[in-house]
Amino acid sequence: MLVYEGKAKRVFSTDDEQVFRIEYKDEVTAGNGAKKDKMEGKGRLNNLITSHFFERLQKEGLESHFIKRLSETEQLVKKVEIIPLEVVVRNVAAGSIVKRLGFEKGQAFDAPLVEFYYKKDELNDPFISDDHVKLLHIANDEDIKELKRQALQVNETLIKIMNEMNLTLVDFKIEFGKDKDGKILLADEISPDTCRIWDKETKENFDKDVYREDTGSLIDTYTKFLTKLEEI
Ligand code: UDP
Repeated sequence: MLVYEGKAKRVFSTDDEQVFRIEYKDEVTAGNGAKKDKMEGKGRLNNLITSHFFERLQKEGLESHFIKRLSETEQLVKKVEIIPLEVVVRNVAAGSIVKRLGFEKGQAFDAPLVEFYYKKDELNDPFISDDHVKLLHIANDEDIKELKRQALQVNETLIKIMNEMNLTLVDFKIEFGKDKDGKILLADEISPDTCRIWDKETKENFDKDVYREDTGSLIDTYTKFLTKLEEI
């Protein structure tokens, strides 16, 4: 049974009450849904890439909601209650932080930066401080610490993978959920939809910016990324 449909995925219940089946859709959106298109093969690419990342993270000791990939477009995951935060990690300045704080695009940060955005479409997912997170009763001090710890661990592993591919991990967004025991688990997806990835030499984009900025074919770009990922 369909329990939730988002912009890029459908979530279904299974025979096991604690397990969901996720189906990746061939839909791409940008600017909170302002730009929207159907692209054949996109769901498959993001499912394969996300599964690859979650498997690698698991090998490196970071548990997530991911159980296993079921097919080209589906995966099984543990049921969690999503924490309404977009957790962004930045290594290099790009996107909103350039516009907001005047950093030069491409400037490397002294240390990875973790930011919280409040997941609320009506408010356009605003940036919020740790104190706002507590004020909104989204997470307490202990949870905030754990979210940051896991986010930085994901960053370290993803950087390792990108280095092996001769790519720079500029920034990415992840989401977390709580399982039935209240344990915080990495959830959602990690794909070129949710990361900024640049070629180390040419600075060519391997991410959704090609769609946001209309600079190339999203399917060709993601296919090239998956091929590189499967080669390492
Ligand atoms: N991001 C995302 N979903 C969002 C907003 C951001 O996956 O709703 C990702 C985005 O792809 C980038 C990182 O989070 O890798 C930082 O995004 P930024 O704050 O710069 O916002 P944007 O430039 O996407 O508006």
